[in-house]
This record gives sequence, structure tokens and C-alpha cells, in this order.
Amino acid sequence: MKITAVKTAATLGHGMHLWVKIETDAGISGLGECVHGGVQAIAIIHELRRHLVGRDPFAIDALFEELRRGHVFDGGFAGALITALTGIEIALWDLKGKALGVPVYELLGGKFRDSIWVYADCQVEPSMEFGEIQRVVEHVLERGFTALKIDVDLGAYTHDYRRGGGIPKDRFNYTADAWEHERMVALVEMVTTAAGKDAAVAVDVHTRLDISSAIRLARDLERFHLLWLEEPVPPENVAAMREVKQATSTPICTGENLYLRHGFRELIVQQAADIIMPDIPKCGGLSECRKIANLAELYYIPFAPHNVSSPIGTMASAHVCASVPNFLVLEFHWLHRDYWTTITTEKTDIIKDGKIALSDRPGIGVELDETVARQYQYPGTTWFAD
Ligand SMILES: [Mg+2]
Repeated sequence: MKITAVKTAATLGHGMHLWVKIETDAGISGLGECVHGGVQAIAIIHELRRHLVGRDPFAIDALFEELRRGHVFDGGFAGALITALTGIEIALWDLKGKALGVPVYELLGGKFRDSIWVYADCQVEPSMEFGEIQRVVEHVLERGFTALKIDVDLGAYTHDYRRGGGIPKDRFNYTADAWEHERMVALVEMVTTAAGKDAAVAVDVHTRLDISSAIRLARDLERFHLLWLEEPVPPENVAAMREVKQATSTPICTGENLYLRHGFRELIVQQAADIIMPDIPKCGGLSECRKIANLAELYYIPFAPHNVSSPIGTMASAHVCASVPNFLVLEFHWLHRDYWTTITTEKTDIIKDGKIALSDRPGIGVELDETVARQYQYPGTTWFAD
């Protein structure tokens, strides 16, 4: 079997959902999805396809590494080049699964579990009081989720929500003052009270704190027994993350903006986080993320992937989650958009009772409805053109 074509399309998803279709002379094709590569990832895939046409689509790891090393000066360690390769890689896994008639998890070593626990990312505004927060949490629980995540990074909102109190704050400064700290703790208290024992709660501060502000927050949140506190400090300084982690019993989670095993190595071997969260359709794909999870498992670090992709990228991620022992929970980012259920040919929610069941369908096991998906076409992009 030989690759005959590599085509792309893009939809307006969380930013852009970039689709990669790989066709073969056997008439079998595979579809991959990648996120956060931007329009530059489309250009990169179009540039790389001359290296792929005529090649064996089953040699997935070797093709990935050949293209990565061959373009190492163009960004072979992180960023759009890796995300472009990720879209290609996921399409190759879908293709190989379909060609062999097996689900991707069988090719990744088989399943540790039949269903994948999913948490819902939900919107809690800094100004909300308990009644409003209760309604947000009830909506999540009614949908069957047993885990949720809220954002409490108030830095960007402080001027709007201070209601005249406190000292004017520079939005670029990482120090949380007393007002901001107390408001973050109050939001978490309201959400955990509303959730009770029905849902685990994770909290994201999007890298917006300095070390002492982060430690103070993490310690004051210990009594809520959170699933985790996400990226309390900027992630590029592993020593800073480790300092926060070592100062608190609140689990610290990070990794949504790291790429490849190389990007996670220091974080893992320095044991600078309690939980890691690679974005699988962005940071290297299925094979790479399985290796990242395996490295983390040596240190008993759980694997809880970040995810803003469509049902197809989400299901691709679920195959990896099934194939590693240290999987914890996978993200879901689409509480309020029809896109989630309309763009697949199945027209059903792949999440039921807060879990994704793995099927025995070949490949990724979820198909794109191209007619519906095209209604969301990203402006200025082509649609699976040669
Ligand atoms: Mg985050």
C-alpha cells in the first residue's frame, strides 16, 4: 500500500480544527485532526506531502521521526510543525486501523479499560454568586458528568470585577493581592459546595500567578480536595512549578503547552507536577503521547490529557487513554455548542454518563460528516483539495 494524496480542511472549532485526510492506492483513507497549529500548520502539511506520497502508510513512527528530523531547523521541537505532524500521524493511525480492521487501541497494545472518564470544562464568571454557580454545576451534573473544571484566573478581569475595591492592578503582573486571592478561594468553595460528592472539581489559573501567590492559593485550597490545581505558575520554568508542587498537598497539573517527550522529560523526571496534561491532537499524536504517559508512569504520575478537539480528535485521544495504565481523566470542552454532535456521521454524543465507551470499530471509530462540517469551514482555507 502506498500513500497517494494528503489533503486538508479546517473548521472553526476551539480556534481551528485542522483535518488531514490521507489517501492510498488501496482505496483506503484515514482522517486525522489537530488543534492549535494555526493556518501555518496547513501550509506545513502541504509542504510535507511531497515527502509522504509514494510512502508506506504503516511506518507511522518512522515517517513521523523522518519528517521531524528532516525539518528540525523549521521547528522540530515544538509548535506548528509538530502539530502539523500530529494531524498526519493521527490520520495514519486511522488508516492503519481501517486497513487491518481493528480499532487503534489494539495497535497501541490493547485496552486497560473499556471506557474513558471525561470531565466537563465549564464557565464560572468571577462575579457569580452561589445561586448562579449552582445552576452551572447542576447543568453539568444533569448531563451526566462526574467531574468538572472551572477557570479562576482573575488577573485579566480584575478591573471589571473589583467593584471599586482594592488597588488598581497591572494585568501583566503575576502577584495576586488579597482581594484576588480571597475571590479565587470563594469561587472554589462555592463550586465544590454546589458539586458536593457528585463531581470532582479541578481548577485552572492559566499560568497567571507568581510562586508565592500560587503556594498561598494551593494551600488555602487544600481543604477542598481538588482533582487538581492547573498551571498555577507559567509552565516554562520547571523549577518554579516544582517549588509550588512541593509546598502543597493540592495536586498540581500542567503540560497543555508542551510538545513531544522532550518537552515533558524535565517536568517528569524532576517530578515537578503531580499530574500531566498533554494535548494529544497538538503535541505529537497518539504514539508520542503513549510514550509520554509511559515515562510519567515510571514516576507514578497520572495522565489527564487536555482536549479542545472535536469528537474525532477526542476519540483519537481516548484510544491513547485506554492504552496506558496511568490514565486519570480526559477533558471535554463543548458544553454549549451543537457542533459537538452535528459534525459526525453518527449524530450522537460520544460521551454518555460522563464517559466515552471504546467501540470495536476499525480505526478511530468516528467519522466526519463533511457536508455538515463544511458549514463551519475556517475562512480563507481550502476544503480537502488536491
Ligand atoms: Mg488549562
